[in-house]
Amino acid sequence: MRKVINGIDASPGVVVGKAFLYEEIKLVINKGKVADSKAEEEKLLKGRTASKEQLLVIREMTANKLGEGKAAIFDGHITMLEDEDFFDDILDLIQDDKLSAEYALEQVLDENCEMLANLEDPYLREREADLRDIGRRWLFNTTKTPIVDLGNLPPETVIIANDLTPSDTAQVDLVNTVAFVTQIGGKTAHTSIMARSLELPAVVGTKTILSEVKKGETMIVDAMTGEIIINPTVEEITKALAKKAKYKADKEELKKLLHKTATSKDGVTVGAWANIGGPTDVAGVLNNGADGIGLYRTEFLFMNSTDFPTEDEQFAAYKEVVEKMGKLPVTIRTMDIGGDKALSYMDLPEEENPFLGWRALRVCLDRPEILKTQFRALLRASGFGYVKIMLPMIISIEEVRKSRELLEVCMAELKSEGVIFDEKVQLGIMVETPAVAFRAKYFAKEVDFFSIGTNDLTQYTLAVDRGNEKISALYDSFNPGVLAAIKMAIEGAHEGGISISMCGEFAGDELATPILFGMGLDAFSMSAISVLGIKKTIINLDKKECEALVERVMAMSTADEIRAEIRKFNESL
Ligand code: PEP
Ligand code: MG
Repeated sequence: MRKVINGIDASPGVVVGKAFLYEEIKLVINKGKVADSKAEEEKLLKGRTASKEQLLVIREMTANKLGEGKAAIFDGHITMLEDEDFFDDILDLIQDDKLSAEYALEQVLDENCEMLANLEDPYLREREADLRDIGRRWLFNTTKTPIVDLGNLPPETVIIANDLTPSDTAQVDLVNTVAFVTQIGGKTAHTSIMARSLELPAVVGTKTILSEVKKGETMIVDAMTGEIIINPTVEEITKALAKKAKYKADKEELKKLLHKTATSKDGVTVGAWANIGGPTDVAGVLNNGADGIGLYRTEFLFMNSTDFPTEDEQFAAYKEVVEKMGKLPVTIRTMDIGGDKALSYMDLPEEENPFLGWRALRVCLDRPEILKTQFRALLRASGFGYVKIMLPMIISIEEVRKSRELLEVCMAELKSEGVIFDEKVQLGIMVETPAVAFRAKYFAKEVDFFSIGTNDLTQYTLAVDRGNEKISALYDSFNPGVLAAIKMAIEGAHEGGISISMCGEFAGDELATPILFGMGLDAFSMSAISVLGIKKTIINLDKKECEALVERVMAMSTADEIRAEIRKFNESL
């Protein structure tokens, strides 16, 4: 039956594909006594061998896609899978208590997980999740229940899930996957950011899609509008394919701007930078003609590790990015964990309001050894190119001063060790809270640059959770209050004599470009796929006209009026 479902357009593109439901199949466990223990032992062994083979394939795919560092996690998983004591405990239950292989495995698994969960050491405690993951795979293989494997999919697959975690996306078969559709999340949720960096069309926040579509059904995913059509008509497919071809042709046309700067008609040049999550994203940055990196989210390095990455591991990742970017600026943000980003090996408390809680720099200043290791790695990388260091989630000048003091300690240490680094390395902050926007001029005296993080600035100015799809209509960066905060930040930066960029998703929103340019933003940093579109928009603008537009929109009362005024302005160009 034909159905239309609407969601949030999270990563652009149009595709026609086949639905693949990423949902767990229910395991059936035989809890009765079994007569043939030998046969159960066989089943258990076969399940283990199959699990190991699958993990080796996932390991290799991860190594190819994301590098050896991330692949190494699976070596640890294979070691846990082959633990002989664990195996013997299961065998005892099969032989002595006549349990089925799967029931015995489940019992031993639960016991061990419970034991891990009760340990003092937070690192060991966090291993419970790994053991559960491995045990689950083994149980599925022992009972011959199919495992949903995202790494090996049929051609033209649209993956449909409630949500996709970073480890899910790391496994995705990128050759055959054409789009993501999820039930939860908003435009700035990390699944959406990940989809954009993989250049995969995505629609999120569809709420009910898993119960609306069946495996293998044909669907159109229009990630330009957020509309999904299940079992479309032939005409709809033809139209979608034409739209897809136009999107592709427009993308090709934009490639002509690869080596052009973002310079307006009246000669004002701004930076067109990209955001990345790690070294593997640099190719996309260069292929899309960005002239710098305005945000390197280092927390993915921490999230894809089984323990805090060492100074050398961090240094290797930062240096790789810096070297690949040559002389272009690379703005590297210190770890922004907490909020919606957890670390499996760190004991982050359960909080009622994680976005208002122990997050980002707050964690780093309470645990200075984390920040110190990162600063040392960043400084060492600064010896290989143009590094700018950026601090997230600032609310006070004390935080800036404490961080700078620690940075200076690291500089003195490295100097005494004879390590070469950029002694004039810039230290900047993100403007993500109204506290900084209100007092931007004063913060500007303490740092070398600002970058506006509109994903958080919008949620903190409006008190609207950025990941909650129930209120996604309220999450609006065109809200006049958010625009006022952005304008204050830009004026404060310039009054204090420093430059200001924007690295939140609003920087890649072409409707916002004329007003951000008119307000005086110095650089736009966004998902790499948006860079050329923003360049094209700037090239067609005139700064003076944009300044006049800003004056008009700032006197308006509602976000809709503002959008309408910008559309009118665009039509007049
Ligand atoms: C932001 O808040 O706008 C930002 C760029 O940071 P993140 O999305 O990682 O919170
Ligand atoms: Mg942020």
